Amino acid sequence: MNYGIISDIHGNYEALKAVMNFFIEKKIHIIINCGDIVGYGPRPNECVGFVRDSKEMYNVIGNHDLAVIGLKDTENFNFIAQEAVRWTRDRLSLININFLNTLDSKSYYSNFMFIHGSPRDPLNEYIFSTAQALPNFKKMNRPICFGGHTHSPACFYLNVNGDAKTILFNHKNSIEIRKDSMYIINVGSVGQPRDGDPLACACIFNEKDMQISLYRVEYDIETTRKDIIAAGLPRFLAERLLHGI
Ligand code: ZN
Repeated sequence: MNYGIISDIHGNYEALKAVMNFFIEKKIHIIINCGDIVGYGPRPNECVGFVRDSKEMYNVIGNHDLAVIGLKDTENFNFIAQEAVRWTRDRLSLININFLNTLDSKSYYSNFMFIHGSPRDPLNEYIFSTAQALPNFKKMNRPICFGGHTHSPACFYLNVNGDAKTILFNHKNSIEIRKDSMYIINVGSVGQPRDGDPLACACIFNEKDMQISLYRVEYDIETTRKDIIAAGLPRFLAERLLHGI
């Protein structure tokens, strides 16, 4: 079985459509979505509606989703993120609010788990380093965990001797999964990449070959950029998409 794994759509419908078309081309039907469907982007209802209507998409909730539906306060969010949460909350339809309300913060499929942030703190913790990943392996009851939250692709690995390390994970470097090891894989962001590459992130897990690959997908950045400005959202949210920051 092959799975498409995504995270951090953030209301960027142009990016979501491009990634879904990419998965169709690759004949992938089961999608795992690691949360933050809304926040920052100009098309939250279209994005939640698409996810809601997708029969073969399995989802967890992200910190922005939770803030938008009023179940998390935004005092730890920066000013721009707070403004985006308020803007999104004012526009999200009741059916979409209700859908986000049904999502758990941790879920499982086959031999992997998926969360938004980290295995021990699914909503809030950012994993940027091996040291931050290390205590999280203990909270995993599957050998592989997929997540997002930092908007930068990454792979952390724990071998059979208990040694952890960070493995390069980008569109040039697939990861071969060893049966005796554990992995925390950050699949980057569909709608607001921050690793210096503006193209949308899409990850594919080939379960038969035990191989995980990252792809970068072109999308209509200019349309999303213009929509953000027209919506009256902070202008920085439009400009950052051009640079992937
Ligand atoms: Zn996010």
